[in-house]
Amino acid sequence: MVYCSLCQEEYSIFKTHCITCEKIKRILNLYSKEKILEILEKVCLRKSEKLQEYKIAESKKQLETIEEEIEIQEKTEKFKEESQRLNQSVMEDLKKKLTHIKRGT
Ligand SMILES: [Zn+2]
Repeated sequence: MVYCSLCQEEYSIFKTHCITCEKIKRILNLYSKEKILEILEKVCLRKSEKLQEYKIAESKKQLETIEEEIEIQEKTEKFKEESQRLNQSVMEDLKKKLTHIKRGT
């Protein structure tokens, strides 16, 4: 088995690099390896930093949405409990009034 000397992936018998790495090598020869490294660091690393920032922002948004949903659910639960309590007290009041009416007091 023969491996490309750059990407270490299995490749050809005669060449030292695979097709992709051959292209990369050509560009490397056109510019200097220092220039290529500089470009890669500027473009790729900055891109990945931006991507991470974007991912963090997205996660924050999702978290806020979840927190809002939880808040709404809690408020709904509270409202349900309060209306149930109110209903019970209204019913008890009505019962009392009815027994008063039955007794004629
Ligand atoms: Zn390669």
